Amino acid sequence: DYRRGGYHAVRIGDTFRNGCYVVQSKLGWGHFSTVWLAWDTLRSRYVALKIQKSAQHYTEAAMDEIKILKQIAEGDRDDKKCVVKLLDHFKHSGPNGQHMCMVFEYLGDNLLTLIKYSDYRGVPLHMVKEICQHILVGLDYLHRELSIIHTDLKPENVLLLSMIDPSRDPTKSGASLILPTGKNKVVLETVVSKEIKSSNGDLTRNQKKKIRKKAKKAAQGCVGKEVSEENERDSNINDTEDTNAKPNEILGEERAHRSLVKDETKGDGINNGNQGKERCRRGSHATRKKLLAEADLKCKLVDFGNACWTQYRCPEVILGSKYSTSADLWSFACICFELATGDVLFDPHSGENYDRDEDHLALMMELLGIMPRKIALGGRYSRDFFNRYGDLRHIRRLHFWPLDKVLMEKYNFSEQDAKDMADFLIPILDFAPEKRPTAAQCLNHPWISSGPQLLQLSTTAPKQHGDDGTSKRERKDKDDREAM
Ligand code: ADP
Ligand code: MG
Repeated sequence: DYRRGGYHAVRIGDTFRNGCYVVQSKLGWGHFSTVWLAWDTLRSRYVALKIQKSAQHYTEAAMDEIKILKQIAEGDRDDKKCVVKLLDHFKHSGPNGQHMCMVFEYLGDNLLTLIKYSDYRGVPLHMVKEICQHILVGLDYLHRELSIIHTDLKPENVLLLSMIDPSRDPTKSGASLILPTGKNKVVLETVVSKEIKSSNGDLTRNQKKKIRKKAKKAAQGCVGKEVSEENERDSNINDTEDTNAKPNEILGEERAHRSLVKDETKGDGINNGNQGKERCRRGSHATRKKLLAEADLKCKLVDFGNACWTQYRCPEVILGSKYSTSADLWSFACICFELATGDVLFDPHSGENYDRDEDHLALMMELLGIMPRKIALGGRYSRDFFNRYGDLRHIRRLHFWPLDKVLMEKYNFSEQDAKDMADFLIPILDFAPEKRPTAAQCLNHPWISSGPQLLQLSTTAPKQHGDDGTSKRERKDKDDREAM
């Protein structure tokens, strides 16, 4: 993707907007962009610099995103609505074309990282509730005050404010500020010579090597290329990731292998190669645990670029029916489940004679019951998946396994916890979009409102929502569909 029309290749130390922003390290990437930690030299603060791919289509998407972000910022001057703040935007010309750039306040890790920190076991329920509350405040603001649908709600697009991994947070790791390319060398050498001086006495080659290694770590493995090349032969440290590789590819792979089916290896996964790598980059298990324990979990919604739809899509989008703000609520429920269990709620795969979307619809029905015929047949793409009776075309045998039972049997929830959470989530996962509670109504649900209220969040008193009720569904064998 680093070609004409694609991503802009960035090196640590590169500057943007006439030297205003100096790139420090890579924060993340999406299908539309790469995102970098940058130092704002005018205002002396860290910011997140999002550099969009350059093709026309991405530029247009970025312009729309900027329009929405401006509106979002205008209505949230007190910064209480749990949505990210756009600070600046500009165009940048590079070898691959002209890239729209957006500058945001610097936030912490995304929710997927939090789920990974829990070793995919799920985070404690009180935290889940608090995070949910923040997401709902953000959605309520977008939906009711601005009539904006996020449409791409997923764990990667919810960022934590407080849980910034110190190894990634220059303000906490004591790392030197990276200067524009070419000056990097000076930064590292200053750190090294300071260390050597303060060690008073002759140092062996090995000790010097260690100091270099430490200094490099302090610069959080994100020093410019000249520096890493200089030390490569000597220090043998494998800390210079290719900054232009997609860092989250590892996550993508792991996700693809999870499913709703019970996974016996769940939780002991640190020994797989990818996680090992991830672990080096992210710090020790103990650090992660500590972060998890200390996190106060304020979080914010990001990415208003209307990117791709994946496991968090609601049925009306798959079926090509009309959709509205309630589409975000469906995605919200999927995220809530994933936070609490560490597994995606729906993990569809194509089979020999059915595609991923048909599998996705089948998984929804296995969890939530048969989709009403009117809804199943109401979309532009309905007939690709359903016959005229409202039965799936290719997947004929469904294995029903309702949510409360899944929580108890697969995730060892207590009966009470499972019931409480299912009571909260099932109405949000209604096949009929208009029956789903709004974000404001969800905020008033006892599952959320009786949770910890650490923050004064900005919501206008929403109405209590009626009980949508969930019919009890018969439980059949919970076979893996692959075994059919
Ligand atoms: P895309 O539209 O390409 O998906 P996003 O806006 O979702 O881009 O950003 C991609 C990733 O970059 C996010 O998942 C997150 O990890 C990181 N990121 C985005 N914005 C910020 C921010 N303000 N602070 C820290 N990291 C961020
Ligand atoms: Mg994104």
